[in-house]
Amino acid sequence: MAELQKAEIVGTPALNGTYISEMDIWPLETQEFNRIYPFYDNLRAGKFTTTKCKKCGHIAYPPQVICPKCWSDELDWVELPQRAKVVTFTETQAGAPLGFDSPLIIAWLTFGDKSPLKHLLGRIVNCKEGELKDGDEVKFVTFSVPAHPIEVKKDTKVCERVFYAFERVK
Ligand SMILES: [Zn+2]
Repeated sequence: MAELQKAEIVGTPALNGTYISEMDIWPLETQEFNRIYPFYDNLRAGKFTTTKCKKCGHIAYPPQVICPKCWSDELDWVELPQRAKVVTFTETQAGAPLGFDSPLIIAWLTFGDKSPLKHLLGRIVNCKEGELKDGDEVKFVTFSVPAHPIEVKKDTKVCERVFYAFERVK
């Protein structure tokens, strides 16, 4: 059996660095648990993607397994822009939810008219309190989140995980 990696959830010192799956805020990203697993594989490759319907052309975000417009399950993966502009945002300066550091910044982003996806609600990271302004340019970034153990044929496999956010372009 592979040795389990201890994953720490940021902001929960009471857990003493141990992993409690009920408090896991991140998705299980592997094929065994997740039907949109290519999204996470693409994140690991540095690509920001979503699904586009082969029948009606509808682009959904977050990625889907069935088109929400025509119910087709024939979907393609398309790449999204990695730069956006901040339309407006909220900044939680204290009391951010478990697993998040303050300031927790959530921004309404615009990708512009040429993008297949016009807008997205995204998290802004690596930004000090009061630093972000409306109209700022931001770029897509990925970061590691706690790995997750799964049972595969009576063995334990540790699945590395990744997620994305946006960072201010200086
Ligand atoms: Zn469709």
